[in-house]
Amino acid sequence: MQTTLKTPVTFDGFGLHSGRKARMVVRPAVAEHGIWFKRVDIEVGDTLVPARWDAAERTPLCTRIVNRAGVSVSTIEHVMAGLAGCGIHNALIEIDGPEVPILDGSAAPFVKAFLERGLRSLNAPVRAIEVTRTVSVETPNGWARLEPARTPSMEFHIDFEDAAIGAQTKSLTLTNGAFVRELCDSRTFCRLSDVEAMQAQGLALGGTYENAVVVDGDRVLSPGGLRHADEAVRHKMLDALGDLALAGAPILGHYTGVRAGHSMTNMLLEALFTTDGAYRMGMCDPVTRSYLPGAGVALAEMPAVA
Ligand SMILES: [Zn+2]
Repeated sequence: MQTTLKTPVTFDGFGLHSGRKARMVVRPAVAEHGIWFKRVDIEVGDTLVPARWDAAERTPLCTRIVNRAGVSVSTIEHVMAGLAGCGIHNALIEIDGPEVPILDGSAAPFVKAFLERGLRSLNAPVRAIEVTRTVSVETPNGWARLEPARTPSMEFHIDFEDAAIGAQTKSLTLTNGAFVRELCDSRTFCRLSDVEAMQAQGLALGGTYENAVVVDGDRVLSPGGLRHADEAVRHKMLDALGDLALAGAPILGHYTGVRAGHSMTNMLLEALFTTDGAYRMGMCDPVTRSYLPGAGVALAEMPAVA
């Protein structure tokens, strides 16, 4: 069945790019509601923003959604990954600012709070998007692909000059709580050489060594070092799951990303939804349901760092 949270959960923190403080309350919602954001700091006009691929702007550094009135919410990808990874299908996310708090740079604080509060089953069956034909997108930087598969799975490859990141590849079947065990605690990362450039453009203003892993050559500058030797590629998979969640339902298919990012995942969803015969939306039978990312998640399996 579809799920929502049992009770509202509040998060307070600063936006990674805007540096602005925000309070975000993730509230339970009824079946078929989906995931919506609501800007509670704006008093007039349409303040509801759908967490859907066709409301996303193609920005390189984060995922930003905008409604028809121009009201936006930025950096939604980690909370979206937390919801998708825990199998939460319906929520209303109230926020009093333009950007989701970055917290520790991963999805772990969201996942921990969601699993501690617990989920509630709703009286409506889960639908999933079954990939029925391979779609792919390519840019000069990399490529991304979705292909048919019985279980949701993912494969990612990155390649950075800095030796502290280097080349990393990871494959994962997103069943039996794998997201919670393997991906949710991996943090945003960036190169020291990019930080100044971003800040000159008015980005990463809320970035610190505590909410992002900063690397310089072969050195990890953030205190405490890495949570996983391949934390960077794990975080890219977390981002991809959060961005794919803008499809509006779990995707049954195999995702491959090679140096892919937020814009490319969005282009991939557009290709999926606009290519003839590329997908089928269907009710999940119990076997399929047991493959979805939310099945089998357990708070006890969260990595200790959270
Ligand atoms: Zn991220």
